[in-house]
Amino acid sequence: MTSQANQGDLEIDPSPLLAVLNELHSQYKLLREGAVAKYIPELAKVNPELFSICIVTVDGQIYKVGDYEQLFTIQSISKVFAYGLALEDHGLDYVLTRVGVEPTGDAFKAIILDEQSKRPYNPMVNAGAMSDDKPLRVYATTSLIKGFGPTERLNRMLDMFRRYIGRDVFVDISVFTSERSTGHRNRAMAHLMLNFGMIDRNIEEALDLYFQQCAVMVDCQDLAVMAATLANRGINPITKEQAVNKHYIKDILSVMYTCGMYNFAGEWAYKIGIPAKSGICGGIIAVVPNKMGIGVFSPLLDVRGNSVRGVKVCEELSQRLCLHLFDCSGQEAKFD
Ligand code: GLN
Repeated sequence: MTSQANQGDLEIDPSPLLAVLNELHSQYKLLREGAVAKYIPELAKVNPELFSICIVTVDGQIYKVGDYEQLFTIQSISKVFAYGLALEDHGLDYVLTRVGVEPTGDAFKAIILDEQSKRPYNPMVNAGAMSDDKPLRVYATTSLIKGFGPTERLNRMLDMFRRYIGRDVFVDISVFTSERSTGHRNRAMAHLMLNFGMIDRNIEEALDLYFQQCAVMVDCQDLAVMAATLANRGINPITKEQAVNKHYIKDILSVMYTCGMYNFAGEWAYKIGIPAKSGICGGIIAVVPNKMGIGVFSPLLDVRGNSVRGVKVCEELSQRLCLHLFDCSGQEAKFD
């Protein structure tokens, strides 16, 4: 196991926060419940033992333990950031006409649209992450991303990830093609939206951009930096670049808070109490506004598709550091 604060090594670093991360890592690496995602064949090859935790504070300090340099595909965590770009491209009012913000308590892959409006319920489930923008003839929360043709849209999306992460990012071509060739359920959702007139043209192009978005490679520190950028009014705390317009942060965090953890979102909000998003890669990001971003990676998933160790680590961090947004019990937040 490797553990590190951004300066110095564990032996000389007195950081209590790093000590907490080390303790949680040692404790939960023994937890071997859950299974790796298998429905995208390439994802099934991941080493189930991998485990890393990283915290990045809004003033740019980095605390990390475990396999934090291991790259993996971002999967559904990308939906948060695609939603932010769609908001920047079109504004809140328009995006709301295309994708709702109602928590459904459904699994990410639920094939379900709002009966009345025919909108996907929210942008954190797959249908919501793929809805259409007819007037501009471009596709998704993913299709809402502007650009002339698939290359420009992909490049705008990659550039958005670059701003959040602070380095150039790439799509894992094997995971992308693996999902594209087996993503029949996502294809079925796209056809359902076509049936309701929510998508009116090239479904395969919309799906390709969505599959590429899911196959962007990140490591655990990247997750924490992205989360810290959301915690820091949209400014990457390491590079100081504005990654997303600060006016949309509250919209992004609200939808993460209510919809970010699939059919565990309610319990998560109740117990852990911080905006978060998970993906079937085994990653979780959690955002403590004005304080820090948390990233956890462990590919063993529970039946809802959330990382088993990731949920446990976030639960403990929330308790130990008093991070629950509505904790008014008089206890001072232990992290300052
Ligand atoms: N690419 C995956 C899919 O759409 C992402 C799912 C997830 O991470 N929950 O099926």
